[in-house]
Amino acid sequence: MANLPPLNTAPIRCGRARCAWRGFESDLKKVPGRIGSVACVNNVCPTCGNDSYMHMTPGEIAAWERAKAAAEAKRGGAA
Ligand SMILES: [Zn+2]
Repeated sequence: MANLPPLNTAPIRCGRARCAWRGFESDLKKVPGRIGSVACVNNVCPTCGNDSYMHMTPGEIAAWERAKAAAEAKRGGAA
């Protein structure tokens, strides 16, 4: 895992293939968990609760930006 972008600067997607959630690390839901016997906080998908995620590829980011722009336009844009 070398050269990961800094936290919250790169959009991520849920590690579950069928899950449509997209966002940033800060959008993940924090739930208590443990690693072995050590208590910790897991960042999980707010939609499905999956605890793994991956950074989007440039193509996925472009599609996500287009989808967001389309949603904005549907709402009436900046008006
Ligand atoms: Zn998910």
